Amino acid sequence: MKTDGSMTMAQAAGAVASGRTDAEGLVAEALDRTRAIGSYLNCVLQLLDEDALARARAVDQKRNAGEPIGPLGGVPIILKDNIVLDRGRTTCASKMLERYESPFSATVAKKLEAAGAIVIAKANLDEFAMGSSGENSAFGPARNPWDPTRVPGGSSSGSAVSVAARIVPGALGSDTGGSIRQPASHCGVVGLKPTYGRVSRYGLVAFASSLDQIGPITRTVEDAAIMLDAISGHDPHDSTSLNLSPTSCAQTVSRPIEGLRVAVPAGVIDEIAHNGVRTVYQDAINACRSAGAEIVEVALPVFKSGIAAYYLICAAEASSNLARFDGVRYGSRASVAPSQGLEAMYKESRSSGFGPEVQRRIMLGTHVLSSGYYDAYYLTAARARRLIKEAFDAVFRSHGCHVLLTPAAPEPAFRIGEKSDDPLTMYLEDLFTVPANLAGVPAITVPAGVVIEGGVALPVGVQFHAAALQEDTLLRAARMFEREVGFDAQPPAGL
Ligand code: GLN
Repeated sequence: MKTDGSMTMAQAAGAVASGRTDAEGLVAEALDRTRAIGSYLNCVLQLLDEDALARARAVDQKRNAGEPIGPLGGVPIILKDNIVLDRGRTTCASKMLERYESPFSATVAKKLEAAGAIVIAKANLDEFAMGSSGENSAFGPARNPWDPTRVPGGSSSGSAVSVAARIVPGALGSDTGGSIRQPASHCGVVGLKPTYGRVSRYGLVAFASSLDQIGPITRTVEDAAIMLDAISGHDPHDSTSLNLSPTSCAQTVSRPIEGLRVAVPAGVIDEIAHNGVRTVYQDAINACRSAGAEIVEVALPVFKSGIAAYYLICAAEASSNLARFDGVRYGSRASVAPSQGLEAMYKESRSSGFGPEVQRRIMLGTHVLSSGYYDAYYLTAARARRLIKEAFDAVFRSHGCHVLLTPAAPEPAFRIGEKSDDPLTMYLEDLFTVPANLAGVPAITVPAGVVIEGGVALPVGVQFHAAALQEDTLLRAARMFEREVGFDAQPPAGL
C-alpha cells in the first residue's frame, strides 16, 4: 500500500497492525519525503535513517510473528531537537551543542518507542526554544509550507512544519510560553500543551523549568489524544511530574460534552488588531454556538500582564538553567590561550556558542535576579503570575465553564525577517499563549480557518483552555469544534 503522508497516526497505526502496510515502507516514505521537501523547508536538523529503518523492520517482524507491536506500532514521528535521544545528536539548534550526544533518552521518547512509534528525525527549533518564529535557529530558519517566504512560528518550528507538510503524522514539541500552540496555529495543525506536571520533562533541555511542558503536534485532535496517552504519567526522574497514571483521552475524545459551556474573555475581540484573525475568532465562537454550546462572557484581563510577567520569569529561569553551558560541564569550548585564564575561556565560549536572542535572555534574567532589582521585577512578576492563575481558576470554578476560547496568535504567519530586529514586537506574538503556561493549565490550538495574505491562503487557529488536569474535557471540546468547522485546507502540494 502506497501512502502520501496523508494518513493520521490512528490510520497509520491501524494500517501497520492489520498488515495493510509495512512499518518499513511507511518509515522509508517519511524519510524520502524529508529528503525531498524537508531540506527546502529546513524543518529537520538530523535524519536517523538507518536506525529508523532497522526499528521499522523489527516492528514488521514482531507483527508477522503475531506479537503485540504497541498502539503506535510502526508510526513515524519527529522530536524537537531539545528532547534528548541516546543516539544521534541533540543540538537545541545552538552552536553551543552542535556536537552534543546524550547518553540517555528522554522519558517521552522512551514511552513513544515503547508504544511502537519510530523516531525518524530531530526537528529544527528556535535556539534553546527561545523564539516565536523559528528564525533563531543557529542552522537557519524553517519555512512555512503554506508560504515558504513566511515563518512557521516557533519555537517548535520544525515539528509543526513536519506535520503540516505531511512528512510525519505526529511530532513532539515543547511549550514554555506557546511554542507548541503558536507554530501549530501558523501551520494549520493541532498543538496541545498539557497541564504542567502531566508529562515528564526528564530529558527535555531546560529553558524555564516552572513553565516548560512537552506535548504533541498532530493533524487531528484524536491523534493529539493518542499521543498524550502515550507520553503522560508519573516519572520518578522528574520531581515536578504529578503522581498520576497516564491519561486515556483517546477512548473518550469523540464523546460530545452535554451542556458545553464555553467562556469567552470580554473585550478580547478588540485586542485582535488583524481583521482576518478577528473574523476567524468570531466565526469560531459562532461555530461553538451552532455545535450546541452556551457562550459565557467572562472578565479575564490577563493578557498584557501575562506577557510582562512571562518575559521576566522565563528569562530569570533561563539565566540559571543555561549557566551549565560553560565549555567545561557542557557545550563547545572556545580555544583561548591558557595564559588568558579560565574566565576568558568561559566568556569566549558563551559569546561564540549562544546566539543573540539567547544572550539577550541570559542578560535580562541575570539583571532581574540581581540584588536591588529582584523585588521590583522578579517578585512583581511572580505576583502577577499568581493573579493570572486565580483568574483562570475563577473561569472554570465560579462560572462553571468547561473550556475557555481565545485566539491562538494575534496575526497569521508573518514574513521571514519582518520582526527579527524588534524583540518587543516578536514577544507580543505570544500574547494569547503565555497565560496558560503561567497558570499551569492545559491548552490546545485547533485550525479554524484561513486568511488570504498577498494572494496566499494562510491558516489561523483558535485556542481552548481547560482547568488543570481536565485534558479529557479539553480534547472532547476541541474535537467537537474540529467536527463543526471541518477544516480541510492543506498547504500547496508538490513542495
Ligand atoms: N515565544 C516564547 C519565547 O520566546 C515561547 C517559547 C516557548 O514556548 N518555548 O519565550
